[in-house]
Amino acid sequence: MLDRIASKVPLVRSIARLGFDHGGDRYGYVDDADFGVINREQRVDRWVRTTCGYCSVGCGMVIGVRDDRIVATKGDPDHPVNRGRLCPKGLAEHLPVHADGRLTAPSVDGSAADWDSAIHAMLDRFRTALDRHGPDAVAIIGTGQLLTEEFYALGKLARLGLGVRHSDGNTTLCMASAVSGYKATFGSDGPPSSYTDLELADCLLLIGANVADNHPLLTPRVLNNEHGVVVAVDPRVTKTTMLADLHVPLLPRSDVSFLNGLIRQVIVDELVDAAFVDESTAGFDAVREHVMAFTPDLVADQCGISADDVIRVARAFATAERGMVAWTMGVNHSEQGTDTVATINTLCAITGNIGRPGTGPMSITGQCNAMGTRETGFTASMPGYRRYDDAAHRAELAELWNVEVGRLPAERGRAYPDIVDGVLDGTIRALWVIGTNPLVSFPNRERTEQALRDLDVLVVQDSFSTPTTAIADIVLPAATWGEKDGTYTNSERRVSRARAAVPPPGVAEPDFDVFLRVADAAGVRDEVFPGWKVPEDAYEEWRRVSAGRPCDHSAISYELIDELGGVQWPCTEAAPTGSERLYTDGRFHHDDGRAHLSTVDPEPFGDQPDDEFPLVLNTGRTVEHWHTRTKTGRAAVLEALVPEAWVSVNPADASTLGVGSGDRVRLVSRRGSVDDVVVRVTETVRAGEVFVPMHFDEACVNRLTVDAFDPVSREPNYKQCAIRIEPS
Ligand code: SF4
Repeated sequence: MLDRIASKVPLVRSIARLGFDHGGDRYGYVDDADFGVINREQRVDRWVRTTCGYCSVGCGMVIGVRDDRIVATKGDPDHPVNRGRLCPKGLAEHLPVHADGRLTAPSVDGSAADWDSAIHAMLDRFRTALDRHGPDAVAIIGTGQLLTEEFYALGKLARLGLGVRHSDGNTTLCMASAVSGYKATFGSDGPPSSYTDLELADCLLLIGANVADNHPLLTPRVLNNEHGVVVAVDPRVTKTTMLADLHVPLLPRSDVSFLNGLIRQVIVDELVDAAFVDESTAGFDAVREHVMAFTPDLVADQCGISADDVIRVARAFATAERGMVAWTMGVNHSEQGTDTVATINTLCAITGNIGRPGTGPMSITGQCNAMGTRETGFTASMPGYRRYDDAAHRAELAELWNVEVGRLPAERGRAYPDIVDGVLDGTIRALWVIGTNPLVSFPNRERTEQALRDLDVLVVQDSFSTPTTAIADIVLPAATWGEKDGTYTNSERRVSRARAAVPPPGVAEPDFDVFLRVADAAGVRDEVFPGWKVPEDAYEEWRRVSAGRPCDHSAISYELIDELGGVQWPCTEAAPTGSERLYTDGRFHHDDGRAHLSTVDPEPFGDQPDDEFPLVLNTGRTVEHWHTRTKTGRAAVLEALVPEAWVSVNPADASTLGVGSGDRVRLVSRRGSVDDVVVRVTETVRAGEVFVPMHFDEACVNRLTVDAFDPVSREPNYKQCAIRIEPS
């Protein structure tokens, strides 16, 4: 297959390049390095360097400001990530900032309020919940859109200032399985590779990673890889699979079987890197014994592909001097996400593909600062990836913070789905939601809606009105991207600056300032935020707290970021300009210094199709929109491109159902239904499978999705559930 495909590659890629390099009309990228006038309408007074606030690629950009309004964005030609280019969302990022729907003043029970009364109302109601229902009655759900300084501040405020144990982020909905998979194999979180490795790999496996839609500015990196073989593993035909040398269209949730088949073939062909396995891994004998059952014929049957493709992909990967696996939500959005990540890590480890240029298991994370919450947050671990169950880690952090060690818990609080469960079982009565829109984004919307409406108090802090702010008791108005200062960490561990170009509207404030206000009102500011006035004060403390940890920021400063255009952690005295890769010495964070290999059996997804619900629903994103369209839905140019949800239906199913492109249908699952969705008949989905984008409140796909979660990471299984299609 690879030989056959290879002959087509130059044509496919040259066509693709036309689209990406010169296709400003088509993809919206710009190469223009001039920061001057864009056109008459976009004449600006000044340009402000910053980082894109959407996805985790972390593109550098400049904001054009005129009359204290953000009127334009352009790619920063000096930024090492995107080299002057932006995707459609980045190019339109200025449009939502001054659009209708900004929250400009606090409100309490639907009435406008000043900051003091809103914060005091929030704290009074939190205290009432704690008095009536016990110490676990208050919880917090944050977002990967916050700045690192804000995460760090929120974690301290929640844990030390408010005594809240259950504080998680919406990052659990997208990247938690990457975190827990990395921890299982390497003893710590942290993507080991860099974007450069996408260009250097001799064999690049993209698994469940439609980067052309979801991480657009990584696509040029894949295209720059002219010498290697690119294999895209995805149930659908996507823009990314069309750019690859080989598309492996796995059946839904057959990725573990496929990976086991690859590992078996590598072992059978004696292509294991024996020296690396001996010196740097543990558990290889168990892996060898476990995978022998996954013969090419069995894997072909379970995955819906040919046995030949299993063998060829395994050989292409294992014989490559540099082999790399990159993945996103197709892997993570699974009840088996953690195990799938651990199996990817195992494949890379037994072939010695880690810690070298062009190698590595690389999770491409989701939001602009999902990595920041992984480093500093109180979600799955304490700041600096310190473990709750490690007494030495608790003692070290307590000393750094100058608090009694007993104030740091020995176990993590509830993850996001368990917070929702806690609300429904009456344990949690008060919830502070920050910068996220769970009504639209959390699976099984009817159940989520019931949970949020059941609360004694729902506080929502956001920049824009959303379906979730509409049902909140207390609303706190926050600054958005372009209105606040701090840092983001992108998917290659690169820390970049985000800057305020204009003040927020009305009395809205940066989230950082809101956290200072809450600490003031609770009487804990001096202890929790000693001497802090601006985000850089938080960053200076974070540098000290992260020192010696895997995500060491100790030698990073705002000045160094400015000088280098972003710095990859760990950045220390010994590595003063940062680190391009992790694990270059073959040593890992487990006590024995080895990578722990995993044996995983594939499990079918729970919500299986039957006669009543015969189709498997896959959900995902499109390049024009971001999450629940809180921002992109307010950019007219993006809305015009993709104004509504659709359902992709294979021609065979369309014929059976008697529907055609443009018809409007009703989608029904065991949990709910969505009306008036337009049909696209297309062979990009296999017969028996359909696809619906996740962005739309009006046709909310989460009325259909199942509330099933990975048992370790607690990440939702957004990718597979059973539905049927009815006439609208
Ligand atoms: Fe870059 Fe992602 Fe922003 Fe697009 S959305 S400009 S790819 S960071």
